[in-house]
Amino acid sequence: MIEDETKKLVIITAPSGSGKTTIVNHLLRELPQLAFSVSACTRKPRAGEQDGVNYHFITLEDFTRRIAHHEFAEFEMVYEGKYYGTLKSELELIWNNQQTPMVDIDVQGALRLKKHYGKQTLSIFIQAPSIEALEQRLRARGSETEQSLKERLDKATEELSFSDQFDHIVVNDQLEQACQQAKAIIADFLTD
Ligand code: ADP
Ligand code: 5GP
Repeated sequence: MIEDETKKLVIITAPSGSGKTTIVNHLLRELPQLAFSVSACTRKPRAGEQDGVNYHFITLEDFTRRIAHHEFAEFEMVYEGKYYGTLKSELELIWNNQQTPMVDIDVQGALRLKKHYGKQTLSIFIQAPSIEALEQRLRARGSETEQSLKERLDKATEELSFSDQFDHIVVNDQLEQACQQAKAIIADFLTD
């Protein structure tokens, strides 16, 4: 549990390709109280991704050392051999700046944070209208190989079965509508 009840945490979770990043970027522009919690990960940056902005891109050795030093609020091997984790230091930095961290993490990591931080969290599951739409979006994004695409689609099917464990589900069919819906839910939570 967070001892200081003013420390809130917004958790956005969804299968890869559902539009999480697009919606998160919209929310960051619209709600200045929110700050993105930059995760650490061991995968390689995609074209256009910046170290320290999208992720802290670190080596497996560095990640393992940080696990041993208890530096993560949660971490997961999200894909085979690829680790992702929320750094406690990242959350603290944002709270110390009088803002609310927003994390964009996988379903298992989200459940872990929700359990650990309890009532001070708001969790939103972003869902694409169908698995077919998800596949189309991932293909259109052009970021995946056939192998990583298959991995993401397999994982998505599993992750969808956890959707009802989160506070809200936002279906991202029409982007504009999904952004408005997520914004209203978070604005309400922040003023509570
Ligand atoms: P995630 O962060 O969940 O992996 P992205 O935000 O990268 O997903 O979105 C995946 C792709 O789908 C991107 O190319 C994005 O522009 C596109 N996209 C997002 N929302 C929609 C939507 N409502 N309709 C169609 N395409 C979308
Ligand atoms: P991608 O490789 O497409 O950026 O992200 C893959 C998945 O890892 C996404 O579902 C994303 O939400 C998740 N992810 C990103 N950062 C973290 C994190 O810090 N912890 C966990 N558990 N998952 C994360």
